[in-house]
Amino acid sequence: MKLYSRFFSSITSHNRQVCLLIVLSGGLFLYSCSTTEPFSGYSYDPPDVTDTQDKEILYQNKRVIGFGQPRIWISNEFSGARVSDAWLASGVVQDTVVIRIKPENAPINNSPWYAFQIWSDQAHEVLIRLSYEGARHRYIPKFASISDPTNWNLLQDSISYSVDGSVHFNVQIGADKQWIAAHPIHPNSVEALQEYPESHGFGSEILVDTIGYSHNNRPILQWQSQDAAEIEKEGLLLLFSRQHPPEVSGYRSFLYFFNRLMGTDELAQAFRSNFHIVAYPMMNPDGVEQGHWRHNSKGIDLNRDWEFFRQPETRSVRDALSPLADGRYNVVYGIDFHSTNENVFYPINEEVITGIDNFTQRWFPYVAEANPELNFRSEEFEPNSPIAKNWVYKTFGTDALTFEVADELSEEAIQSLGRSAAESLMKLLLEELVAAEQ
Ligand SMILES: [Zn+2]
Repeated sequence: MKLYSRFFSSITSHNRQVCLLIVLSGGLFLYSCSTTEPFSGYSYDPPDVTDTQDKEILYQNKRVIGFGQPRIWISNEFSGARVSDAWLASGVVQDTVVIRIKPENAPINNSPWYAFQIWSDQAHEVLIRLSYEGARHRYIPKFASISDPTNWNLLQDSISYSVDGSVHFNVQIGADKQWIAAHPIHPNSVEALQEYPESHGFGSEILVDTIGYSHNNRPILQWQSQDAAEIEKEGLLLLFSRQHPPEVSGYRSFLYFFNRLMGTDELAQAFRSNFHIVAYPMMNPDGVEQGHWRHNSKGIDLNRDWEFFRQPETRSVRDALSPLADGRYNVVYGIDFHSTNENVFYPINEEVITGIDNFTQRWFPYVAEANPELNFRSEEFEPNSPIAKNWVYKTFGTDALTFEVADELSEEAIQSLGRSAAESLMKLLLEELVAAEQ
């Protein structure tokens, strides 16, 4: 029986039922159970991704490194930085500033995040090489002066790719410190997100709570419509963001999406008088702060921990939301924002019956048509993996979506996507409400 109970604890609740029936009828236990394979990872996941027990990670040595003549300075002493080492390699034509980037732990998906400051005592052009451990270059470098953290620009000159997955490019440096990063690093801090509703004029309507803490004691924030006493009557919309630190385009789409839900126009006001918003803007604050490629500070992919909840970040959200599954509340939909190499919806399979059935399949054409240049596609999945979307479905019986935004979208495209997606979602949910009342 001990063997059985250990086996039961490592499989999904669905499989558990199948196995139990077979044990009672005797005999075919192991053979029959193996016909319903538990989820073990997507094609791009490293092995054992669903083993979400704490792992060792590599912390960066935070410092300023100087070399060469004129002197070149590289720093990782800021939030979101990632530089494992830096040095000057001499070359026949030109010396190269090598930036070595290692992940927080391995194996890990190919999402090598980097962010550093660079400056020099004297203005000159340098050749930079980004060299990754166990990964290939993915994110186009972006620049900003540290005196203007909101104004980021794409690298204009061409990037040369090497067969080993590294890249090199030229940049002009000088006494003014500048960031070079995989994506803009502002606003990233928990402090900025604590202030966000207030600084965007939503302070009177949005309640900001700390529902728990990360491993390294950073708040897990919840933004929620203020009128908590009213939520029993209303539909609830759940929003999740930034489980994976480098996925900035998904995160920024979420912010624009949220801003649009909070609009002052008739549509947004009608929406908010009928639907209650509960949002988790920053699920992985340690990973973002520490410049991680994907994991939290115990080396775990949080979006594979929504079954056993071994990590405090996912556990906090589960504990905050689970009371809403007691039958008095009406969770209507959940959206988890991410980034990947394309614009894609990952809905729950059409065959699966959900609260508002096939809501994602009905919403998708509006998002795709409002953003034709983004070439959105949709690919359905079985709700069998331990990810946020499937937990929403399993807990509330409602439809839910993983909303993937392409890594390299312009700020304008991200804004337009976030706004238009919020508009069509509000219209559709309001239509649902009318239909339900008839
Ligand atoms: Zn992701």
